[in-house]
Amino acid sequence: MAQEFPTQARVVIVGGGIIGCSVAYHLTKLGWTDVVLLEQGQLSGGTTWHAAGLVGQLRSHANMTSLIKYSTQLYSELEAETGLATGWKNCGSLSVARTADRMTVLKRTAASARAQGVDIEVISAKEAQDLWPVMAIDDLVGAVWLPGDGKANPTDLTQSLAKGARNRGARVIERVRVTGIKTKDGKATGVSTDKGDIAAEIVVNCAGQWARKVGAMCGVTVPLHSAEHMYIVTGKIEGVHPDLPVMRDPDGFIYFKEEVGGLVMGGFEPEAKPWGMKGIPDDFEFALLPDDWDQFEILMQNALVRVPQLETSEVKKFYNGPESFTADNNFILGEAPELKNFYVGAGFNSMGIASAGGAGKALAEWIVNSAPTMDLWPVDIRRFAGFNNNPRWLHDRVKETLGLHYAMPWPNRELDTARPFRRSPLYDRLAAKGACFGSKMGWERANWFAASGEKPETQYSFGRQNWHDAVKREMKATREAAGIFDQTSFAKLLVQGRDAASALNRICAADIDVEIGRSIYTGLLNERGGYESDLTVMRLGRDKFLIVTGSAQAVHDADWINKNIPDNAHVTLTDVTSSYSVLALMGPRSRDVLARLTSADLSNVGFPFATIREIDIGYATAYANRMTYVGELGWELIVPSEFAVGVYEALHEAGREFGLTDCGYYALEALRIEKGFRAWSRELTPDVNPFEAGLAFAVSMDKPGGFIGREALVEAKAKGKLTRRIVQFTLDDEAPMLWGGELILRDGKPVGEVRSAAYGHTLGCSVALGLLDHADGVDKAFIEGGRYEIDLAGERHAATAHLKAPYDPKSERVKADSTELRAAA
Ligand SMILES: Cc1cc2nc3c(=O)[nH]c(=O)nc-3n(C[C@H](O)[C@H](O)[C@H](O)COP(=O)(O)OP(=O)(O)OC[C@H]3O[C@@H](n4cnc5c(N)ncnc54)[C@H](O)[C@@H]3O)c2cc1C
Repeated sequence: MAQEFPTQARVVIVGGGIIGCSVAYHLTKLGWTDVVLLEQGQLSGGTTWHAAGLVGQLRSHANMTSLIKYSTQLYSELEAETGLATGWKNCGSLSVARTADRMTVLKRTAASARAQGVDIEVISAKEAQDLWPVMAIDDLVGAVWLPGDGKANPTDLTQSLAKGARNRGARVIERVRVTGIKTKDGKATGVSTDKGDIAAEIVVNCAGQWARKVGAMCGVTVPLHSAEHMYIVTGKIEGVHPDLPVMRDPDGFIYFKEEVGGLVMGGFEPEAKPWGMKGIPDDFEFALLPDDWDQFEILMQNALVRVPQLETSEVKKFYNGPESFTADNNFILGEAPELKNFYVGAGFNSMGIASAGGAGKALAEWIVNSAPTMDLWPVDIRRFAGFNNNPRWLHDRVKETLGLHYAMPWPNRELDTARPFRRSPLYDRLAAKGACFGSKMGWERANWFAASGEKPETQYSFGRQNWHDAVKREMKATREAAGIFDQTSFAKLLVQGRDAASALNRICAADIDVEIGRSIYTGLLNERGGYESDLTVMRLGRDKFLIVTGSAQAVHDADWINKNIPDNAHVTLTDVTSSYSVLALMGPRSRDVLARLTSADLSNVGFPFATIREIDIGYATAYANRMTYVGELGWELIVPSEFAVGVYEALHEAGREFGLTDCGYYALEALRIEKGFRAWSRELTPDVNPFEAGLAFAVSMDKPGGFIGREALVEAKAKGKLTRRIVQFTLDDEAPMLWGGELILRDGKPVGEVRSAAYGHTLGCSVALGLLDHADGVDKAFIEGGRYEIDLAGERHAATAHLKAPYDPKSERVKADSTELRAAA
C-alpha cells in the first residue's frame, strides 16, 4: 500500500543526488532516523548520474583529504551493508608531470600526503608507463602513484546510500518538488512542496546546481554557478583493461579512466564555459547539453599527445553535463548564517562523487551536534558573504575556477578573474605607488610594492619570486623606521547593549570586561577548546565594543557571536566593516610620524600598549589602537572611510623624513611569522586549543562566569601533557624558500606540518610555524632534543626549532615598546 505523504519529519533533505543521499545515510547512522528526502525527479537524475566517478584522495588541506579517505573506505564497504553494488574499484591512480615545476608540485604533494597517512610513491615516467602502458612518456618528467585511489559508479553509489538510509527508517520520495522554505523567528521550520507541506526541525539544501535557488527561497546565500563540463567515452582500446588505474595529466588538463575496455577522457580546461545564466530548468533531469567540440579541443589535443591510439579509436559518446562551481573551487557546507536549522551541502566543483562520503558524514555530524566536529573552514558556508552571490561576478569567476583543478598550484597563486571586486578607498593611490594586489574575501589588497621601473606583477615559482627584494625593503623599513599597511579589509563588528559585556565575556576566552579604552587580544573557542577565531576586542564604552577580526571572518565571527548571545540578552551586533578603513602604522619611528599629526599624548604612559583612544590625525578624528601584528611599536588607525585618504596623505607627508614606506601583505606575513605570531585558519583552527598554540597567556581561566571551551581546557590541562604544539622553525641554510604545507621530520621521522612560512629577511632565512604531533607528548625536552629537517619537494633541509621567537628587536626602545600579540590578518 502506498505510504501517505508525510506532514512532518525531524529532518527534510532537499535533493536526491549523491550528496543528499549521503547526508540521509549518515544522519540515520547517527541515530536520526526520522528523515525525509525529497527529489523533484528521480534519484541521481540531476548532476550525479553523468559523473565520471573518479575518486582521488589528495587535497591541499589535511581534513579535506581525510574526508575523501573516509569516502574510499565507505564505498568499499557499502555493498556489504546494503546489498547494492557501488561500482567501487580500488584501481589506484597516477598523476604525471610534463615539467620540472609540476614534478615539484607532485613531490610536495607526496610529502604532505604521507603526513596525512595517504599511500603515495614518487615514480619515474617509465614506472608510470608500466602501470599505464597505453601512454606515451617521451615528454614526461616523472609521476606519483596513489594505490588507495579508485573509481565508483555514481548512480549505483547514490542508490546504495539511499538504500542504507531507507533501511534505517528514512523516507526517500521521488517526484516531489520543494517550492518554498517555511521559517519562523529566524529558524527553518519546514518546506512547502507541490504535494503538500512538511514541518521539520531541520531543512538541508542538497539541491546541487539548484541550491542557489533553494537558498534564495529563504534568503540564504549559496553562491554557486554552473559551468559545462565534458568528457568522451571511446570504443575498445588495445591494452586498456578493467584494472587500469585512473590517470591524470594535469599539464594537459586531462584525466582518463577505463570503461568497458575503452577510455573515459575528460578534463578541466583553463577557460570554462559558464551555463545556466537564466536559471537551471526544473526539469533538467537525466539531461545533457549539446556536444561542444570547440570547447573540448584543448583537451582532445592534449589527450592525443598522451594516448596516441586515440587518433584511431572511435568516440562512442560525448558527455556534456553542467556542474556547479564556487568562487574558490571548494564546496559549501554547514548551517546558513542567515537562517538557523537550515543547512547546505552543495557546490561540489566536480568533486561530489569523491567528496560525498566524507562531506555527507561531516554535514550529518554538524546537524546532530549543532556544530562541526572538525576544522571544516575551507568549505564552511560562512566564508562567503551576500555579495558573493552576485550572478555576474559568479559567472565571470567560474570561468577560472573549473580549471583550477589542474592549474599549477603556485604557492601564493591569486585568481585573476572577476577582479577588482571590493576596493579600499586607498586602492588608486596604492596602485599609483606600484602596488601588486592580491585578493582576500574579495578585497583588493597590496601584496607588495614594485620599485619604480619594476612591473607590479608576480612571477610565480617555487623558489624566490620576483618580489623577494621588494619585501626585503618593506620589512627593513618596518623593523628600522616605519611602514604603513592598508588593512582596510579587516572585518569590524560593533557589539552594543546592556548585556554586551557579559555576553561577550562568555564568548571570549580572555577577560574583556575591562576598563573603557582597553584592547584585548582573545580567542573565541568552541566547546572542544579549539579556535573559532582570534581577534581584538576594544572597549569603547560601558556597553560598546568594537571587534576587529580577520578579513575572511566577518560572516563567520558574526554568526558565532550571534549564535552564542543568550536568547533574551540586550545585545546587538552590527557589521561596520564598510564604515572604517584601517591604516596600520608600524615600526620604531611610528610614534615620531604620528606625533607630527596629533595633539594626543603618544608616550608609553599616556598611550600604553593595548589601549585605544579617539584622537585627531590631521583633519580627521579616528580611533588609534596601540597594537601591531609585527612585533614593533605601532598603532592601528581605525579611520572612518571618508577620512582614509586624508589620513593616508597626511601620514606620508609627515613620515617622509622618518622613512615611512608603503608595505604590503607579503611583508606583513613574514614579519608576523618572524615574531612567532599565530594566524587564524593557519596555526589557530577549530582543532587546536590555546595550550597547543602556545597562547595560554591570552586565556583567563579563572574569570567569573567562565567562557565557552573552558571545560575542555580544564580537561586538557588535567591530562598534564600536550601531544601537539605550534613551534617556530628557521632553516639552517639561508637559500631555500618555504611556503607552508611542508613535512617536518624529527630525527628522520615525520612529526608535523608547516602551517605558515615566509622568507624572514630580518633573520636571513626561511621561517615557519609548524604543528608538531606526537602521541607520547610534545614538551620542551622533546622539542629541543630533536634533529629537525623540513622536506621541500623531496629534499630535506636542516631546521632549528624555537620555543621563543628568534627575532628580538635590537633597540632597547623598541624592545620596551614591543607589542605582544595581535589578531590574525
Ligand atoms: C561531466 C562531469 C564529470 C564529473 N566527474 C566527476 C568525478 O569523476 N568525480 C567526482 O567526484 N565528481 C565528478 N563530477 C561532479 C559530480 O557529478 C557532482 O559534484 C555531484 O554529482 C553533485 O551531487 P549533488 O548531489 O550535489 O547534485 P545533484 O546530483 O544535481 O543532486 C541535486 C538534486 O536536487 C534535486 N533538486 C533540486 N531542486 C529541487 C527541489 N526544489 N525539490 C526537490 N529536489 C530538487 C535535483 O533534481 C537533483 O537531483 C562530475 C560532474 C560532471 C558534470
